Amino acid sequence: MEKLKLATIWLDGCSGCHMSFLDIDERLLALSDRVELVFSPLVDTKDFPEDVDITLVEGALGTEEDLQKIRKIRERTKLLVAFGDCAVTANIPSMRNPFGREEVLKSLYVESDALNPQIPVQSLPELLPHALPLHHYVHVDVFLPGCPPAADTIYQVLSELIEGRIPDVNPLTRFGA
Ligand code: SF4
Repeated sequence: MEKLKLATIWLDGCSGCHMSFLDIDERLLALSDRVELVFSPLVDTKDFPEDVDITLVEGALGTEEDLQKIRKIRERTKLLVAFGDCAVTANIPSMRNPFGREEVLKSLYVESDALNPQIPVQSLPELLPHALPLHHYVHVDVFLPGCPPAADTIYQVLSELIEGRIPDVNPLTRFGA
């Protein structure tokens, strides 16, 4: 049986959702019989591949770079999963939203740094005015709340998607779970 192509990525997130994914433990082996992990922080692929069947996206959209990534991912993915509360609602990253972009940069790089207080001009992706959930910019097929979603939930949802079914996640998880 041909394996489905699975990708995972984290954008404006803390990696906690990916840690929960790894907590699937030995059931990862069962998943690996059915899917090939083609792109992820866990593998070394540099560019997001074409024709991905399922992509788990952790984190909100916080930068112009995130926007470019999510648009490419959407074009190249059949089923896009908003993976965790940050992807679904912007959650923790949205805590910067009331303060505005310039104030956040000043607070982080100038007021909090006694040694070298300056806002970097290189290697700093341009911040969007607000951190926003994925569905503000692209179509999302499955919303998987939780901060992070539990490993059991992730496994059940992935198992259903692999079987070609869209799972009802409501009985499985909740915001902040
Ligand atoms: S949903 Fe929670 S665990 Fe996942 S990236 Fe956001 S803060 Fe981290």
